[in-house]
Amino acid sequence: MTKKIASHHARHTRTVSERVPACVLCRTVGGTVLWRDSDCRVVLIRDADYPGYCRVIWNTHVKEMTDLPPLRRAHCMRVVFAVESAVREVFTPDKVNLAAFGNMAPHLHWHIIPRFMQDAHFPNPVWGARRDTGALATLPRPPAKWRTMLARTLSRLL
Ligand SMILES: [Zn+2]
Repeated sequence: MTKKIASHHARHTRTVSERVPACVLCRTVGGTVLWRDSDCRVVLIRDADYPGYCRVIWNTHVKEMTDLPPLRRAHCMRVVFAVESAVREVFTPDKVNLAAFGNMAPHLHWHIIPRFMQDAHFPNPVWGARRDTGALATLPRPPAKWRTMLARTLSRLL
């Protein structure tokens, strides 16, 4: 009897396809990994205009936040907020931008971007045209060893 129930269960356990070959975030880690667990990873994006630009990328190919069960959703946001806290601690930005689009890569990921009033796009999103001003010259410099600081802060918060 027990066996029958077990096999009934097995038949109804959906096998979720975890990787989509055409998806860049399934094929690659998507940056320099600062922290990871079995659900997601925090990566650093190489962007000359935005040191400290991080992404939280879900490890499996999930499209929307609401595709995740509530506890996984909460975990994802806990990691996003830890990155926000770490970015604030290390860079003291004027603002932190959080965004989730996934229009180009429909694989769940969050952008966490420290912003400064003198940066290349402020007050617009970083995806627009660069502004043409001399403000960049007065952009605060990130602290020395900021990559190490970010990774350490994240490990402490997570
Ligand atoms: Zn994917």
